[in-house]
Amino acid sequence: MLTVHSACWLCQMPLARPAWGICSRCTRALFARQGRCPQCGLPSATAHTPCGRCVQKPPPWQRLVAISDYHPPLSTLIHRFKFSGTAELAPALARLLLLAVRQRSDLPAPQQLISVPLWQRRHWRRGYNQSELLCRPLARWLSLRYQSRAMTRVRPTATQHQLSARLRKHNLKHAFQLELPLQGRHMVIVDDVVTTGSTVAEISRLLLQNGAASVQVWCLCRTL
Ligand SMILES: [Zn+2]
Ligand SMILES: [Zn+2]
Repeated sequence: MLTVHSACWLCQMPLARPAWGICSRCTRALFARQGRCPQCGLPSATAHTPCGRCVQKPPPWQRLVAISDYHPPLSTLIHRFKFSGTAELAPALARLLLLAVRQRSDLPAPQQLISVPLWQRRHWRRGYNQSELLCRPLARWLSLRYQSRAMTRVRPTATQHQLSARLRKHNLKHAFQLELPLQGRHMVIVDDVVTTGSTVAEISRLLLQNGAASVQVWCLCRTL
């Protein structure tokens, strides 16, 4: 059962709007100020056009939105959200992501959200899928389609950060399966932290192969 936290998760000040979870002062401080490439989300001098890396070798998705880098205090919140069983943080983090999305004027209007599925055993151990918990409020606020079972993970995969780039790609090959049709829809993959991007790239390719009109990635943090 999720409860509403009545103090700011970061500074502990009482909240005027408890449902927000994070006060307006802390919210302002969380957002990245440096320019970012609209496609890969990494720091870039050209915030309105894709960076040199994306021009040379574009990722399979069209746009990436992130709140900021993986650094404190956002990284502390995400760590609690993922590993300390603090699922109550989901609405506050989803709201930050919504604010990041609203700051972008270059996004194609999305129609459907996709969460990154966890392998069943990991899901049972943690008790929840963090990507799913972010999708639910976002789908409600933005009136987007969302079904948690639209995509499944059909086999377990090794933890990505222990692998080289080549092994990462191989590790994820055929790891996901689409369970529902999405022909012609503008899709958004919602993830917590995107580092190398190999997981969201694999899911993007699968969505595009199955007829998605476009793919965006919305994540809490984008980092390398
Ligand atoms: Zn605060
Ligand atoms: Zn880029």
